[in-house]
Amino acid sequence: MDNPTHETDTASSSGAASPAAPTNFVRNLIDEDLRTGRFGGRVHTRFPPEPNGYLHIGHAKSICLNYGIARDYGGKFNLRFDDTNPTKEEQEYIDSIITDVRWLGADFEDRLLYASDYFDQLYEWALQLIKAGKAYVDHLSADEIRDHRGTLTEPGKDSPYRNRSIEENLDLFVRMKNGEFPDGSCVLRAKIDMASPNLNLRDPVMYRILHAEHPRTGNKWCIYPMYDWAHGQSDSIEGITHSICTLEFEDHRPLYDWFIESLGIYHPQQIEFARLNINYTVMSKRFLRRLVQEGRVRGWDDPRMPTLSGMRRRGYTPEAIRKLCDLTGVSKSNSVVDIGLLEHCLRDHLNLTSARVMAVLRPLKVIIDNYPEGQIEWMEAINNPEDPAAGTRQIPFSRELYIEQEDFMEDAPSKFYRLAPGREVRLRYAYFIKCVNVVKDASGQIVELHCTYDPETRGGDAPDGRKVKATLHWVSAAHALPAEARLYSTLFDTPEPGSDGRDFIDCLNPNSLEVIEKCWVEPSLAAVKPGARFQFERIGYFNVDLDSTPEHLVFNRTVTLRDDWAKIQQKSQPR
Ligand code: ATP
Ligand code: MG
Repeated sequence: MDNPTHETDTASSSGAASPAAPTNFVRNLIDEDLRTGRFGGRVHTRFPPEPNGYLHIGHAKSICLNYGIARDYGGKFNLRFDDTNPTKEEQEYIDSIITDVRWLGADFEDRLLYASDYFDQLYEWALQLIKAGKAYVDHLSADEIRDHRGTLTEPGKDSPYRNRSIEENLDLFVRMKNGEFPDGSCVLRAKIDMASPNLNLRDPVMYRILHAEHPRTGNKWCIYPMYDWAHGQSDSIEGITHSICTLEFEDHRPLYDWFIESLGIYHPQQIEFARLNINYTVMSKRFLRRLVQEGRVRGWDDPRMPTLSGMRRRGYTPEAIRKLCDLTGVSKSNSVVDIGLLEHCLRDHLNLTSARVMAVLRPLKVIIDNYPEGQIEWMEAINNPEDPAAGTRQIPFSRELYIEQEDFMEDAPSKFYRLAPGREVRLRYAYFIKCVNVVKDASGQIVELHCTYDPETRGGDAPDGRKVKATLHWVSAAHALPAEARLYSTLFDTPEPGSDGRDFIDCLNPNSLEVIEKCWVEPSLAAVKPGARFQFERIGYFNVDLDSTPEHLVFNRTVTLRDDWAKIQQKSQPR
């Protein structure tokens, strides 16, 4: 696995507040443009999603980079939908993308823009290119166009329609637009060079016929611009200075330049950078859509999904995602970031911000024989040791408690420091207890433990100085609230799903979701609202799921406590 931070570009992509000004090759290029006055001192970036699915964490990288630059240079940042394909695009996706961009904290002010707003202008420009002899209507089928295209080693072949007269092209194109032809019967192509070593310049398609309703333009159009024809011109119309995109568009840049120069319009600078990839997941919307459509996950916002809505539902914070985008820098070479680094960023932030509570996922009943029946003591518990302002709360202690099953072992080896027959441990914020008896059912299953407590140890140490080696979390059985807990592991069982010859679907981790129907949480959680985040002491960070109600509490495990980012790199097991 590659190191996520590129050697020469370890710097921040979105953080302005850090004392050292962030630097990376994109910012260096912008600095140079500012020095030479190339764009009149302006910096204007954009994030241009196609609304054909929900955003994923790879998009967050682009958002943080583009928005971070606009913010740090006192420039502007646009959100522009590249909504050129009505057969794949939906309002639901547009709405979710707006929500996600705002959630990440990227402020596009009033610049919520759509490529579809430029359809008229793009049409006029297409006419201009036809009149200049630089575009033609082609009646070859899609397959024929592909066959004529040639290969990297062989030049393409001219279409028999390539040398039509300008008048004929104008007439045909207007009729395409007027709906006279069925889908697929012809296209408008740029007339560039069928022998170009760059395949993108071999007369790319600019318009195709699609009798489809568009979410914004309705039935006004039955020809739609191809992405390659719309994208650069949209940037130009918006006065984008630095059009930042991922590496696969490097080969498209000569085409975008050709369009802009042929039209004689304002010319933004395109800059390419490497995509963010993360292991144990997939990040193409095409793949994510398949997971949703085939019911492999519960939806786009399934907490196992790498979508921003899934991550939000699971309890990820925008701060953690922005931190990952910063730490991974901006690079020119593709690499794969370990999911452990993202989790590390997440723990860092949750550690500072999450209230601690006690919850028992797999309960084992403990009865304290020498504790008075019916007595309740309210113990003071610290809400967040990282944040004194978070204060304290009272938690009830009583004769019958639950502890975690795994905190007890009947035949404990000497290295096991938790509870065992005859051994003593501390209960957090309460007393030392010692196990005196183990009760089993007919099948030999342990059903409850009997313990004694030492009243002298309340909330602290033993007066006689004796030590215990473990502190356990617990809840009072009579006071605890039942809750459902959903524990997640990686969605896939292999670091690069689909790379080992299997279809990525066959790499799904069958154990990515474990539901514990009935665990117990402390009573202070009675009124929690979806989205609230907690640390369940000794277990992990959890948040309240959207499904949660006061009658049926549901928690997601956001991430475990153990931060083995340093060790993870050697591991290949699903986690
Ligand atoms: P996908 O393959 O997931 O559909 P895409 O690039 O086709 O991704 P778009 O909606 O076109 O999706 O992407 C909007 C912007 O986000 C583009 O500028 C694209 O370069 C950027 N982007 C997409 N994926 C990543 C990624 N993994 N890392 C960084 N930027 C990305
Ligand atoms: Mg795309």
